[in-house]
Amino acid sequence: MIHTDIPAIRDQFPIFAWHRQENLPFVYLDNAATTLKPTPVIEAMHDYYSNYSSNIHRGLYPIAVRASKAYEDARVKVQQFFGAAHPEEIVFTQGTTAGINLVAAAFAGGLLQPGDEILLSPMEHHANLVPWQQISAHHNLRLRFLPMDAAGNLQLDQLDTLADFPIKLIAIVHISNTLGHINDLETIIAWAKQRNIRVLVDAAQSAALYPMDVQQLGMDFLVCSGHKMYGPTGIGVLYGKKELLEQMPPYQSGGDMIKKVGLYSSTFADIPHKFEAGTPPIAAAIGLGAALDFLQTLNRPQWLTHLDQLTDYTIRQLREIPGLKIMGEAQKRSHIISFTLQDIHPHDIATFLAQEGIAIRAGHHCTQPLMQHFDTGASARASLSIYNTQEDIDALIQALHHIQSFFNS
Ligand code: PMP
Repeated sequence: MIHTDIPAIRDQFPIFAWHRQENLPFVYLDNAATTLKPTPVIEAMHDYYSNYSSNIHRGLYPIAVRASKAYEDARVKVQQFFGAAHPEEIVFTQGTTAGINLVAAAFAGGLLQPGDEILLSPMEHHANLVPWQQISAHHNLRLRFLPMDAAGNLQLDQLDTLADFPIKLIAIVHISNTLGHINDLETIIAWAKQRNIRVLVDAAQSAALYPMDVQQLGMDFLVCSGHKMYGPTGIGVLYGKKELLEQMPPYQSGGDMIKKVGLYSSTFADIPHKFEAGTPPIAAAIGLGAALDFLQTLNRPQWLTHLDQLTDYTIRQLREIPGLKIMGEAQKRSHIISFTLQDIHPHDIATFLAQEGIAIRAGHHCTQPLMQHFDTGASARASLSIYNTQEDIDALIQALHHIQSFFNS
């Protein structure tokens, strides 16, 4: 099953070599939390800090000019990666959470009217739920939720039952970080467009693996995090349609986001700088650019097939374990799998696996309403990525069999 270039991909992630050197087992199946970092990303950031570390946009000396160019080049790489029409439609943020907070404050808080509604789903990460609760409370907006069936699939055939409500924005996750379900963005966006409803897509779990063409799909906003795309922490992307970003008031204010400042009032820079107050995460933006370059060097159809086959294999093997229940039953799924094992607490499962050198996650995965939907407080979650192998999965399955027999003995 292992494709020929998977070992070569693994070789580009130095964390595997470090574990080998230290003689430590390392099976990394917590990719939904964050992905590992390849050498080109580490080197690009090292190069910036070692050779041209300086602040951007104002310095006139060579290293400052170089840093400014590298930062703006990273923006263009992101623009091209998502097929956006203009580089200024790409705002660098701190991550998905920061991007959603920006849209909540500047779009919902700045442009919506009391009584307007925001449509979410019950499977949202807290990052795509709590900011909407907060802004709704402050601006008298109302939240509404898409219906979801018992298996955790959104019931999009019932969208028309919502047609008469004053919904102005749909904020929806592309791939559930708990269930791995892939939501049907085409249907949601087409429905929204007919009604002049704006759509924000939380692409935290999908941006790296299922690159989207934002113009083709037609969403108004997309948010994602660099650290889940083989890039560094501390950087994220907000894509927003130009005409919307232009209408939205600034979110945070201070240096670098202004045109002219007086004692009592100021005018603001053009997009995207209007939304990038203060010194941005320069090294992290450069690192994200390197991560996108790295992704382009890989044979996408090959690793995607590998990932799909590995996910199917994992599910088949998990189903063989007595008492193991996979959460949800996806119409369309990705590489994230949540499960429970009899009444063994997921934290005990994760702790046991950690002793074997296997990294998974246990808990509510920042989706407490979804856990309530499934009438559980926590699950264990294995999430795969492009460098995982069948040996990784076999190690997980073998350890789970041990846990199962240990707790039953
Ligand atoms: N949305 C989803 C679907 C996620 O998986 C995550 C991270 N687990 C977030 C939002 C928040 O991302 P970040 O913590 O990088 O801001």
